[in-house]
Amino acid sequence: MDNDCLFCRIVAGEIPATVVHETATTLAFRDIDPKAPVHVLVIPKAHHGDVLALARDPQAAAEVLAASAEVAQAEGLTADGFRLIFNTGRHSGQEVFHVHAHVLGGRPLGPMVSG
Ligand code: 5GP
Ligand code: ZN
Repeated sequence: MDNDCLFCRIVAGEIPATVVHETATTLAFRDIDPKAPVHVLVIPKAHHGDVLALARDPQAAAEVLAASAEVAQAEGLTADGFRLIFNTGRHSGQEVFHVHAHVLGGRPLGPMVSG
């Protein structure tokens, strides 16, 4: 655990979150500032800074992907579709450097990127 990492602190229970799905190695909770009717963040419990780091641990990457699919199913998103986003680095606007998949859906999501 990284004591300076917001999402490690959520995993540790030090900061509250609305958890919607949990496995031995992953946690999924609602985004504090939702950008769509459903906006859930899916993280590995172990600290990886971004998706580049996560990809170096294929088992953890697969677990995050599987958990994201289960969240999409449980949130009722699979019929109409949804978006799965890993913001990575400066151009993406990544703000929290503990890798997280954004699961977004519940309405048409518009163009893939703005501008
Ligand atoms: P990023 O820009 O790094 O891809 O996304 C970070 C996300 O974390 C943002 O959508 C932001 O709203 C969310 N977020 C930031 N702080 C908190 C928090 O304390 N709790 C929860 N649940 N989400 C947070
Ligand atoms: Zn962390």
